[in-house]
Amino acid sequence: MNVLVINAGSSSLKYQLLNPETGDLLAKGLCERIGIDGKFTYKPQLPGKEKLDAVDVAMPTHSEAIKAVLDALADPKNGVVASMKEIDAVGHRVVHGGEKFAASVVINEDVMRAIEECNPLAPLHNPANIIGIKACQELMPGVPMVAVFDTAFHQTMPPVAYTYALPYEYYEKDKVRRYGFHGTSHKYVAQRAADMLGKPVENLKLISCHLGNGSSVTAVNGGKSVDTSMGFTPLAGVPMGTRSGDLDAGILEYLMNKYGMNITEMLTVLNKKSGVQGVSGVSSDFRDLGSAAAEGNSRAALAIDMFNYNVKKYIGAYAAAMGGVDAIIFTAGVGENDANQRMAIASGLEFMGVKMDEDANKVRGEERVISAADSKVKVLLIPTNEELMIAMDTAALVK
Ligand code: ADP
Repeated sequence: MNVLVINAGSSSLKYQLLNPETGDLLAKGLCERIGIDGKFTYKPQLPGKEKLDAVDVAMPTHSEAIKAVLDALADPKNGVVASMKEIDAVGHRVVHGGEKFAASVVINEDVMRAIEECNPLAPLHNPANIIGIKACQELMPGVPMVAVFDTAFHQTMPPVAYTYALPYEYYEKDKVRRYGFHGTSHKYVAQRAADMLGKPVENLKLISCHLGNGSSVTAVNGGKSVDTSMGFTPLAGVPMGTRSGDLDAGILEYLMNKYGMNITEMLTVLNKKSGVQGVSGVSSDFRDLGSAAAEGNSRAALAIDMFNYNVKKYIGAYAAAMGGVDAIIFTAGVGENDANQRMAIASGLEFMGVKMDEDANKVRGEERVISAADSKVKVLLIPTNEELMIAMDTAALVK
């Protein structure tokens, strides 16, 4: 079975063609500058097939972008399938499923309407996801399509974890609550952790640290998300590349009054100019921060230390929330690649049974136990694979 995974943004679209049964990736790529001039990238993963790197393809709308993807996948010379008939289903990443979707679903008209009703919760993302779905439906009639939501995995959170201490009608009337994001990634690594530990996920207390440009930490008890650091929007939780993470809302009034900023300008500061970028003044990329810190830049060092400290605090909080932890998982760009930051985050947690293995931790991008053999709490490095998780969910639903 081959599943096409689509992640549509407003002017770009990422795609992968995968076999969810074997985990094999057949091809992947990217359409960029949709609605502008159109750039198409295609990376077949089979031997002897040639790639395309940001070539010009007219893409006035997402339809031409999807058409370019399908043409490339079934191209007689460099394609990876003999015809479009070998694409059995499409899995769409959808950012926000609100309280309506606690799992992935096969897309029909009712589901489309329900996704549209979630648009106000993710005004930048959901409308683009919907455009991507419609373009696929138009070009691939009869092929089953599945929506996989970033928020769905977190719908198991109990009210104590998702309720904000605001007047309750803002929840009842306006659905203001913690939703959480990165759910597909947290779900994937939790399942892999159970496999690695040889135990059913139902018997495990896990803390999953998805640390990338956007970062979130999730408490997974018995395979279910019970708390997560991102909130109503992805702005909450630990400091990120350019997002502030949690802060005192009183700061908004103070700075807006002092500098005459409106709320849009204030949110641009919080989303795009804060986080480790804002503190360091150097970069949002942890590789640049590491280099700057090594050269003696104290603000770059502070930004890295702050990030690690906040992740550590969430680990402590979630261990308390679950009454213990069996394993801590590191994933995504920083979690998979940066041994120093993993060490900084996990050290000092010996009191709760975490003991790292310094040599085992000197690794990047591969599944491995990086805690010492006698560590009560296992520490795992697990590369995330959201596309494979989307393809697996899709396959399970259309079978
Ligand atoms: P996104 O949230 O955009 O999906 P990723 O999970 O790809 O982000 O993570 C991107 C971040 O990972 C980069 O900004 C960089 O800081 C960090 N990163 C990637 N590779 C390395 C590396 N080798 N060492 C340290 N940090 C890295």
